[in-house]
Amino acid sequence: MSFDLARIRAEFPVLTREVNGQPLAYLDSAASAQKPQAVIDAESRFYEYGYAAVHRGIHTLSAEATTEMENVRTQAARFLNAASTEEIVFVKGTTEGINLVASSWGGSQLQAGDNIILTEMEHHANIVPWQMVAKRVGAEVRFIPLNENGELDLSVLPTLIDSRTRLLALTHVSNVLGTVNPVKEIIAQAKSAGVVTLIDGAQAVMHQKVDVQDLDCDFYLFSGHKIYGPSGIGILYGRKALLDIMPPWEGGGSMIATVSLTEGTTYAAAPWRFEAGSPNTGGIIGLGAALTWVSALDLDVIHQREQALMRYAMDKLATVPDLTIYGPQSRSGVIAFNLGKHHAYDVGSFLDQYGIAIRTGHHCAMPLMTHYGVPAMCRASFVLYNSEEEADRLAAGLIRIHRLLGG
Ligand code: PMP
Repeated sequence: MSFDLARIRAEFPVLTREVNGQPLAYLDSAASAQKPQAVIDAESRFYEYGYAAVHRGIHTLSAEATTEMENVRTQAARFLNAASTEEIVFVKGTTEGINLVASSWGGSQLQAGDNIILTEMEHHANIVPWQMVAKRVGAEVRFIPLNENGELDLSVLPTLIDSRTRLLALTHVSNVLGTVNPVKEIIAQAKSAGVVTLIDGAQAVMHQKVDVQDLDCDFYLFSGHKIYGPSGIGILYGRKALLDIMPPWEGGGSMIATVSLTEGTTYAAAPWRFEAGSPNTGGIIGLGAALTWVSALDLDVIHQREQALMRYAMDKLATVPDLTIYGPQSRSGVIAFNLGKHHAYDVGSFLDQYGIAIRTGHHCAMPLMTHYGVPAMCRASFVLYNSEEEADRLAAGLIRIHRLLGG
């Protein structure tokens, strides 16, 4: 299938907007992506014609909504090539999913003296929940360091794994450096030592096909809002054998089998055991529409297009004086940089005046900022609706700021 950029851009209503008198160049999709009309329509159609509470009603609307929701579970299983629909848990997003695993799996399986391995490039969502559970149970958290290219220094991994290592959790793609980690090889190393693996796919699933059976990971997570779906909904994939031994983490309606004031409570099977309360049904339906939309475009085609655009943008940015780019030359989705000695906020504010939306700050990766010795970075992200012209505008904007402010 060929890639028709104009047709794709036309599906995103917001891309017709002007900001500060300029056409919007939205280069902040790694934080949250814009939504195609198909996703907006699916969610509003549900609220207009199909809305009802799920799971608890026998009336037609409730039964239909339940079927629609469970169909999205099946769809998400197919999207990740999970072995079974029962391996898919609906969560609010990657953050909630990691907290669920840390609290339920970590809280029940980790013991004092055990250790967990993370990496220096993790988003706070894949650091803090592990620090919390490690503190609670008396476990140690270890980190795979970075090399000078902004890749993981995997030569260290064998020295970090020992007989008390229980879990290795890492990001598939860095949200700051764009580094694509060789997760399949890392998972194989962990498996051979009997270590459970969790992959944070928040910055991966919109750029490349993911097959959890091929990766052989135990947990995989992503957020709907970064893959053109609604916010407040995400997917936790968990290997069935692990989900089955994990205790519930939140209690309430929908996650029980029986509740008795005298006998206590018995719980539903996974994945429903992990979904207490009324779900974000509209979000789930919107996510289903997003997965349909992305799959119809074909992630292999998207990947090729985005890689070409990324190379173009990297070449363009190489022409900007005094620009420091962080991370490897070959990357996915994002380009983090600083312009001379200027604070990222100043650069981001100037770019906004030119209608260019980028991210500035620590990107929820303070340890990575510490590694590079900077308080903040600018980050431009490129996805399937971005254009070469937008990369040109970014480079021209930066050259102009450099001329105005100096190095
Ligand atoms: N991990 C990574 C790599 C991310 O980029 C993000 C979002 N910036 C998250 C986790 C957290 O995702 P969410 O806020 O959707 O839970």
